[in-house]
Amino acid sequence: MDEFDQASEFEELRRAIALRTRKPTGPQATGCCLFCGDPLPPGQRWCNADCRDDWEKLQRAQREAPPCE
Ligand SMILES: [Zn+2]
Repeated sequence: MDEFDQASEFEELRRAIALRTRKPTGPQATGCCLFCGDPLPPGQRWCNADCRDDWEKLQRAQREAPPCE
C-alpha cells in the first residue's frame, strides 16, 4: 500500500465516522440559528459552536428537569 492509498482510506474512514456520529434524529435546519434565531445559510443549524453548545445544554436541562407548571 502506498501513501496515496493510505491517505484516501483514512479520508474514507473519517467520513464514515462523521456520518455515523451524526445524530440521525437531530434537529432540522430551519434557516435560522436554533438557539438565537439569527438567519443562517441553508443547512446550517447554529451560528457557531457557542450557540450549538448552549442549545445542547438547554435541551439537556429541559430533558432532565421538565417544567412542572
Ligand atoms: Zn446563534
